[in-house]
Formats: sequence, C-alpha cells, structure tokens
Amino acid sequence: MSNSDTWSIDDAEKLYGVKRWGGGYFEIGPNGNLHVTPDVNNEKMRIDIKDVIDEIQQEGIQFPIVLRFHDILRSQVALLNETFIKTIKDADYQGSYRGVYPVKVNQMREVVEEIVDAGQPYNYGLEAGSKAELLTVLAYNTDPEALTILNGYKDEEFIRLSLLARKLGRKIIVVIEKFSELTMLIRLSKELDIEPLIGLRSKMTVKGRGKWEGSGGDKAKFGLTITEIINAARLLEAEGMGHCFKLLHFHIGSQLTDIRAVKEAINEGAMIYAELHHLGFKLDYVDVGGGLGIDYDGSKSTNDSSMNYNIQEYVADIVFGMKEVCDLEKVPHPTLVSESGRAITAHHSCVIAEIVGEIRSNSSQMDTSVVDDEHILLKNMRYLTESIEKQENLQEIFNDAAQYKEQAISAFKLRVISLEELAKIETLYWQIMESLQVLMQTAEFVPEDMRELDYDLSSQYLCNFSVFQSAADTWAIDQVLPIVPLTRMNERPTVNCSLVDITCDSDGKIDQFVLEKGISDVLPINKINKGEEYFLGMFLTGAYQDVMGDMHNLFGRLNEVHIFSHDDDPLDFYIEEVVTGSSVNDVLSIMQYHPSSMAQAVKKLIDSNIAKGNMKPREGVKWTDFYEDCLKGYTYLKTSK
Ligand SMILES: *Cc1c(COP(=O)(O)O)cnc(C)c1O
Repeated sequence: MSNSDTWSIDDAEKLYGVKRWGGGYFEIGPNGNLHVTPDVNNEKMRIDIKDVIDEIQQEGIQFPIVLRFHDILRSQVALLNETFIKTIKDADYQGSYRGVYPVKVNQMREVVEEIVDAGQPYNYGLEAGSKAELLTVLAYNTDPEALTILNGYKDEEFIRLSLLARKLGRKIIVVIEKFSELTMLIRLSKELDIEPLIGLRSKMTVKGRGKWEGSGGDKAKFGLTITEIINAARLLEAEGMGHCFKLLHFHIGSQLTDIRAVKEAINEGAMIYAELHHLGFKLDYVDVGGGLGIDYDGSKSTNDSSMNYNIQEYVADIVFGMKEVCDLEKVPHPTLVSESGRAITAHHSCVIAEIVGEIRSNSSQMDTSVVDDEHILLKNMRYLTESIEKQENLQEIFNDAAQYKEQAISAFKLRVISLEELAKIETLYWQIMESLQVLMQTAEFVPEDMRELDYDLSSQYLCNFSVFQSAADTWAIDQVLPIVPLTRMNERPTVNCSLVDITCDSDGKIDQFVLEKGISDVLPINKINKGEEYFLGMFLTGAYQDVMGDMHNLFGRLNEVHIFSHDDDPLDFYIEEVVTGSSVNDVLSIMQYHPSSMAQAVKKLIDSNIAKGNMKPREGVKWTDFYEDCLKGYTYLKTSK
C-alpha cells in the first residue's frame, strides 16, 4: 500500500527487535520471513521458517506446534562451557568447571538426551530436584566424570537411590537443604555402608533481583543458615564423615536481572568456602546455582524480563570473583559448578500458532444519515464528527464523545431513545475515535487518557493456542515473551492487535509485546488477506514454558516438530522427528474418563434414533464414526488446510 516503498527490513528489525532478543539465532531475512541460524559455528546455515511451516503442512501435521531446534541446544551447551573454559584460562584460575543442567527447566527426554550428548566433551552433568527427576538423571548421566547434583527435599527412598548411584560409581552429590536430611543421610549411609558425597546449601543473605528474589534471604525456603552449616560440618566430622563434605551450594534465584546480585552472591559464597577451609573442611566444589538470565525483551536492562549483563560478564564475575577471595584468603581455587537451565534451553523452542479470527468491538456499522425527528444526543454526536474535520480541540471532542455515549446508554435504559438510535450513536462514536487516533499520531501532545485509544481501537485476534498450555508464565507472573509475525515483515505493518487464545477463560490473552519502545499492549501486524494463513511465532519458550503447561479447558500438549540443520540439504534443515501432541482421548483419560465407553454410549443413542426412524442407518454410521474420529483427534481448532 501507500508506505510500503519506504519500509525496509531494518525498520522491521527496529520495530520487533528480533536481533535484540534472538541471541544470535534469529533474524529477519531479506525476504521478510523469520530466519534461524541454529548453529553458531556455521553462519551460512540459514533456515527460513516459512519453509519449515510449508513442510509441516505437507506432512499433514496440525498447528499449533512446538518447533525444537536441537542445534540451538547444542550451541548453548557449548557456549556456556567454552566461556567458562576460556575465562578460567584467562584468569589463570587453578580449578576447573563442571556444569550441570537442572532437568526441571525442561525434562523432555529429547531435550535431556541432546544436552547430555552435546555436553560430553565437557563432562557436563545433570541436576535433579525430585525423586522422579533423580530416577531420570540416574539413567541418563552415565559419564563417570560428570557430576550429578541432587537438590530439593528428600525422603528415605531418594537418599537410598543416591547411595545406589554412588555404588555404581557416579559422582553424585546430595545437597542438604534442611538439617534433618543430614541425619537421615548419615544413618542410611552407615546402614548400607556406602559413602556419600555431600553438599550443603547455604541460605544467602544476598537476595537475587527480580521475580525470584525470594530464593535468597532469611525467609528462603531452602538452605541452611551459617550456624547450621557449621553444626552440620561438625556433625559429619564427629561421625567420621567430615571428608564426605565436598560442595558448598547456593542459588539466589532464577532470571537474575542485575549483575550486582551475582557479584555479591559470589563474594559471600567465596567467603563461606574460605572460612570452611580455615576450619579444616577442604571442599572440592563451589556450586553457584542457576540464575543466568535471558533477555526476553531485548532491553539489556534490569526489567523483570531482561538482564543487564551477558554470559561473558556472568562467567567472568564468577571466576574472577572466586579467585580474588581465594587468593586473599590463601585457599585453593575450587572446581566451579553452575546450574544454568533457563540460559541453556530458552532459545531452542518456539510455538507457532495461526490467527483464526478477529474480534472487534467496532466492526459493524449503522447507516447514520440524518433522518427526521432525531434525538438531540444523536445530533450532538454527529456535530462532533463535523468538529473533528475542523480540527478543533481534540481532547474536548474526546471527552464530549465519551460523555454523549454514556448519556445515550442511560437514555436507552430510560426508554428515551430506541435501540436503533443507540446503535447509530455508537457507530458515530467509534468513527470519531478512529479519526482521533489518526490525528493523535501527528499531535505534539497527547493527553494520558487518549493514549489508550490505540489499545481500545486495536483488534483482538483469536490465535489457535492456549496461553495456559504454551505460555503459562505470561499468565501467572507477567512474563514477557517475544511474539512476532513469521512472514511479510518486509511490508509495513498496518494493524494493531492484541491476542486472545481459544480457551474460554478471559485470562487467556496476551497484551504485552516486546517492541522498539519497550513493552506495548498491542502488536503491529499485517492486514490479513482473505483466505490467507497467517502465523505468529512465540519465542524463547524452551525454559519452563515447554513443560509447565496445564490442561485448562482440556487443551493438551502440542504437536512437536524437531528440526535438525543440515548443510547438504537445499533448505538447510530436515524434520528429524514428529512427536504427536495430546489427542482428545489422551486428555480425557487423564481426567479419568473412559473414551471407549463414551463412544459406545453415543453409538447406543444413535442406534436408538435409527430404530425410531429419526435417522437413516447410513447417516447413523457416519455420525458414529465422526464422534470416534473427534476423540482420536487433536484438541486444538482444526483449520481448513
Ligand atoms: C530452578 C533451579 C535452577 C535453574 O535455574 P535457572 O535460573 O533456570 O538457570 C538451578 N538450581 C536450583 C537449585 C534451582 O532450583
């Protein structure tokens, strides 16, 4: 249309900030489609996400889907480990790095397998925080050099399993979260005659910044106070197990937004480590927990969904911070452990969903031409439309229009005006608002209440997905996730929209978008042509979102498509695996229904209708099959293609 010629990919990049949050993996290609560079070591490999969508459709896989880029997982594992290795070398640090991936961040088997595989050259290990996770890491972390770290509250079974792992030769470290776990561990270890490796989790005085700052401080749920740590160490010594105390653990929260919190925590942790050393407890490891953030909104700030540092600075603060304290205190440099989950997995998956409809409060219009004997309220509203043309005081017009509309509603309730007159007044009202919105864009000053016009006039687009399943944190904790169109970004976007999902919950919506100027309540997208399939991508969903989804409205897990990049392929990728999402049968069974008896019950009803002559037998068979097919089908909306 009019301005397309002056719109460039650079403008689109500025608006959507794909590179700001893309971590080097995502950008807008010259053709206006979103492109993925999943392998940091091979920049020539570029996947056009439109090609992926086309192939998924050819294979008959239904949207919405989760796309997983396994190469991104591998790249992130390598990035974290290489950064530690390089920094340790640069700092002349005497210890090494043994990272672990905390499986709670994304427990999908394929994710864990890929991370373990990519981590092999670095002896990268796993972390578990529950019995089910422990059973998983026991089976998957088979590298005798890699660490397995056990956090979370533990029962006897949990501790027995950890001792079994010791017997099998694993470097498994039980991190004590509360004192009573230690006495249980000592008892079981003696009973089974297996020596454990023990870590103590310290309750830190420093608090993380951001949404998870409650993980630190006196009221933290996990960890031992300094007094408890000293008593625990002394108890171990008295039981002849002082040498089993190997690791000091702390974790001050996830998504640390401010690097100062990291510096303070390292300093505090290093001091405790050094003091323990002076007391005769010569630990091998200091585990700094998780917290390495993701810049979801691309602002490089201390916003809740951002971070004011990068991975290099994070690692440097750990390595140099630890070295400084250790050198000062004349104690050896410990092996460094970190438990980054979010930073490893967030980039690797995204959700692709189709826009399937539009909800507009002001879409249908009445004929408002003048008729005889019009009510004064209608006349007044029409008079305002004429004032706009004369560009009179915009704020006054805005206020008057709102007032007339309110009066009209009261007048209707009092039967002073007819329903048709009310509809005409509403039509005129929305026409006025639309004109004001246009004029506002060039106005020097826009009053506060008028700034909401963009949102009020925006369309709500119905998107075929469930917020509760695919983006739980956007609902639960106001997490911001980047959402962008996947195609046509070489055209100037002309429509402002917010998104609603297909659950029948009013909270099932997204009205926070990452844009150039910060967080916006509307997302600019293209005008969708008749019959056009228009997809949106929700990015950075690989950490927590992927696995936290619930079954609200019985929308189950999404179909998943696993992408591998491949240089010899003309499109640089192939679909390695498709994991089918939940069928209606699946979600009903979880809720204790018996889909097959439900099908029988419906068949019985249909049969009795056939017997009564209400339905032809042929028709009845078709309806029976249809019901059964729906049970087997996907829980999300089926779109025509
Ligand atoms: C959740 C958690 C992590 C992972 O934190 P991220 O911020 O996702 O890296 C690490 N350690 C512990 C103890 C945790 O509870």
